[in-house]
Amino acid sequence: MKKLKRIAVLCSGGDCAGMNTAVRSVTRTAIYYGIKVFAVAYGYQGLINGELTEFNRRSVSNIMNRGGTILKTARSEEFKTKKGRAKAIRNLNKYKIDGLVVIGGNGSFKGAYALCKECEVKCIGIPGTIDNDINGTDYTIGSLTAVEVALDAIDKIRDTITSLERIFVIEVMGRDCGYIAMRVALAGGAEEVLLPGVKYDINKICHEIKAARKKGKISWILVVAEGAGSAHNIAKTIEKKTDYETRVTVLGHIQRGGSPNALDRILASRLGADAVRLLMEGESDKAAGIVANRLVTTPFSIACQKKQESEEELYSLLKILEA
Ligand code: ATP
Repeated sequence: MKKLKRIAVLCSGGDCAGMNTAVRSVTRTAIYYGIKVFAVAYGYQGLINGELTEFNRRSVSNIMNRGGTILKTARSEEFKTKKGRAKAIRNLNKYKIDGLVVIGGNGSFKGAYALCKECEVKCIGIPGTIDNDINGTDYTIGSLTAVEVALDAIDKIRDTITSLERIFVIEVMGRDCGYIAMRVALAGGAEEVLLPGVKYDINKICHEIKAARKKGKISWILVVAEGAGSAHNIAKTIEKKTDYETRVTVLGHIQRGGSPNALDRILASRLGADAVRLLMEGESDKAAGIVANRLVTTPFSIACQKKQESEEELYSLLKILEA
């Protein structure tokens, strides 16, 4: 087997807490084993534009606790075309890169999957997205921190709610994935959660709100996943049907920020090192992941498909606990 000599690392798609920790781990593990590391700025677009810089150990000093990514990330329409990827491959060859590590979500893995079919460069993915929607891993880097950040915001909102006696509708991120919404709703003691793809009955919700008021419940929190509907529209309907004042908070991008929590840092460090190990062993076309606390790999063809996970158990628990 040809010895691995030069690798490149990039972050792609939406940023998340822990990407820096993963970049640090990839860089330092590779250097430890005598492999040169090139950091690619701006994800796949930077690969197309040839934005590669050699990193040393110190290039990644003091970043493991910082949110976002020092490499910058991007979404690249050009990379979705064969012509765009051909430009990226030319740059990989120009820098004599024999292994590429892609840190990102399922879109980024689709890109890596396409790239693997078109060039000799070995490629390993590291799941990094707040959505936790990647097949073949229990957790993606950034998802645990995103839940914590959203939960902290909900705890603060609760302080206001208990003083003001209002209904709060709180929209959380996660595109068409309900991972964050379900967890913050349960951990934040919300009364209801709306998840993407799960039907809800607004009349039933309004009835529950009224019944709760009669029992003396003054605060009522409804968490809405971004992909389940507009928090503003839902709040308007509730206000109309119940006559209770309703307030909306859209948490938005604060959920992507913040220092990665300990679990995300540990996960990012492990997956970063494992990606390098896999490349050294000649592996390619796979995503690294963690299942039941063990390092595993999943072919890109499967990893890039949307994870189908039922939230039924957590939802039933929420309804028992708020009743
Ligand atoms: P997040 O979950 O944080 O949004 P993501 O990796 O899913 O991250 P996307 O915007 O879906 O984010 O994808 C990132 C980039 O991956 C795209 O901008 C594009 O360059 C590349 N990509 C996505 N889908 C494909 C595809 N089918 N073929 C080639 N490249 C793709």
